[in-house]
Amino acid sequence: MGRSSAIECGRCFKSLPANQVLNACQCGGLLLVRYDLVSIARGWPRDELKTAPASMWRYAPVLPAEADEAITLQEGWTPLIRTAGLGRALGAENLFVKDESRNPTGSLKARGACCAVTMAHKQGIRKLTIRSVGNAPGALAAYAAAAGFETRIFMPGDVPQSNFIECKAFGATVTLVDRLQAP
Ligand SMILES: [Zn+2]
Repeated sequence: MGRSSAIECGRCFKSLPANQVLNACQCGGLLLVRYDLVSIARGWPRDELKTAPASMWRYAPVLPAEADEAITLQEGWTPLIRTAGLGRALGAENLFVKDESRNPTGSLKARGACCAVTMAHKQGIRKLTIRSVGNAPGALAAYAAAAGFETRIFMPGDVPQSNFIECKAFGATVTLVDRLQAP
């Protein structure tokens, strides 16, 4: 892993070994990557950002892989848009909204999919599956296609057509199911 320190369950706080295939904790909790931020700050000069890539990978020291390992579609580096009218309505004169729709797959899900596919690639995985709705499956399908992975996606039958078509367009095998069960 890049400069990260450990994998930790967000529910029971159990530490798990990095550099192995993990999905969720045995307790069902989601896994979080923990970083030694004090140590990272000491070895990460501010000037390094001036020449860093204009993508999410400019922040590689706090991502789980190095920039040159990334399966990237130039995600991140999305603009902050000043929303003066909304700001006035909310009493916040300098309100900015980060426009994540500029990501390669049209949502912030591109960031997570990029990390997931990058880490899978590092660990020698070449097949991925996901059961989900919304923008996550399409993002995974896009990054998996960029990596040359085989992808199988399970979605509910009443998913919006745009989500279904996006996954198919990226070459994923999509199975429509009656409904998705909670993990
Ligand atoms: Zn746990």
